Amino acid sequence: MDFNDTPEEAAFRTKAYAWLSANAKLRDPNEYVDMLGEREDDAAIQAAKDWQSKKYDEGWAVLTWPKEFGGQGLGRMENVIWNQEDAKFATPTNIYTIGHGMLGPTIMAHGTPEQQKRYIPNMARGQEVWCQLFSEPAAGSDLAGLRSTAVRDGDEWVLNGQKIWSTGAHYCDWGMVVVRTDPNVVKHAGLTYFIVDMRSPGVEVRPIKQINGGSAFNEVFFTDVRVPAENRLGAEGDGWSVSLTTLMNERVAIGAGAGAGRFKDLLRLARQSRMNGKPAIEDSAVRQKLASIYIRSKGLQYTGMRTLSALSQGATPGPEGSIGKAVGGPLAQEIASFAIEMQGAAGGLLDEGSTPMEGMWQNAYLSSPGMRIAGGTDEILRNIIAERVLRMPPEMRVDKKIAFRDVPTGPPGS
Ligand SMILES: Cc1cc2nc3c(=O)[nH]c(=O)nc-3n(C[C@H](O)[C@H](O)[C@H](O)COP(=O)(O)OP(=O)(O)OC[C@H]3O[C@@H](n4cnc5c(N)ncnc54)[C@H](O)[C@@H]3O)c2cc1C
Repeated sequence: MDFNDTPEEAAFRTKAYAWLSANAKLRDPNEYVDMLGEREDDAAIQAAKDWQSKKYDEGWAVLTWPKEFGGQGLGRMENVIWNQEDAKFATPTNIYTIGHGMLGPTIMAHGTPEQQKRYIPNMARGQEVWCQLFSEPAAGSDLAGLRSTAVRDGDEWVLNGQKIWSTGAHYCDWGMVVVRTDPNVVKHAGLTYFIVDMRSPGVEVRPIKQINGGSAFNEVFFTDVRVPAENRLGAEGDGWSVSLTTLMNERVAIGAGAGAGRFKDLLRLARQSRMNGKPAIEDSAVRQKLASIYIRSKGLQYTGMRTLSALSQGATPGPEGSIGKAVGGPLAQEIASFAIEMQGAAGGLLDEGSTPMEGMWQNAYLSSPGMRIAGGTDEILRNIIAERVLRMPPEMRVDKKIAFRDVPTGPPGS
């Protein structure tokens, strides 16, 4: 594996950095980029839209999308390089991970030409924002067990039910929804996928207050929401295979190695903090822990690079991609927890003014459990690695050959 940029990649990096320098300010190294509680007020959303529109006009938007869909037709490596350079700058909140990373590719793969023409350009330019309405109170890891329904009524479908953990639903224009349209077949076969206007009568969005103080996700209720038949994405009953396109793109969009980038910040904190009357970095237990975290961060970084190397040579993302998140999620939490420990009594404070690095580690710690759940929990990722990488025997599935309506469920609250 060659870790250096090829001459073409180096040229692309220089060009990306130059464009970013001309249009954005360098990021303050103390600022924590919070994936769960970023600013999402009206001004922040408008700034994100303006930034996306500017990138689109100047050829820096949706880099990996094909040119026919308004993208730049570039490879994954260029996208990684762009993200690395972009991370150095204080650019507006990114409200497009779900739309550009997951839902756009789903419409490209399964949409009719009319749907592609209607939705893709506005999505690329960032003027319409999208959310993913999949999870339900009783269907997350077991998504195909979902219970929201759609019933056909003439030229429309009528949706009822509840979704949950819907990131960004409170500012989104459109939602991608998967619901049950046939309970008389096995659970995966009775699902259909729809595009829903979030301003339709009967759609109610209720924010969820998070432990980190943010409200990035929501509950979404559907009460007799009427959806035009032309908003069905894919065939009736084919919702599971359409959803798989979204889910396959989700792990790529979320990315691997959440913990890998934090080591430098941790080292900086160890140099700045004092423990038992001396700099924390001089404490042997601290040094041992730093070494252990460094080794695992590097392992994660190199595993990520191996995957990238394979992708840049034309391989498609496989189940081994789950390793990055399975290791990186817990590592990010461990790093944040150790950083708080090093702060002594100040570690328990939340106030940005009273904590080292403006509360960055407290924020990271409170956000870290969510990152171990979103896009596949630790246990589900381990199941994937066990079954599909190590080829161990699959989990027992008791509802495999049963019509969904006959799958036993307990009484409410049991
Ligand atoms: C930050 C964040 C953002 C999110 N954004 C969205 C979004 O935009 N749209 C959306 O639709 N959803 C979203 N989600 C929901 C997310 O997809 C689900 O939370 C996730 O799939 C887990 O489902 P669950 O919460 O229902 O937990 P469950 O599936 O009920 O799991 C509960 C526990 O049981 C374990 N478990 C479940 N099944 C197994 C098994 N077979 N073997 C071993 N252990 C198992 C799990 O690992 C977990 O520990 C988001 C979640 C988070 C945290």
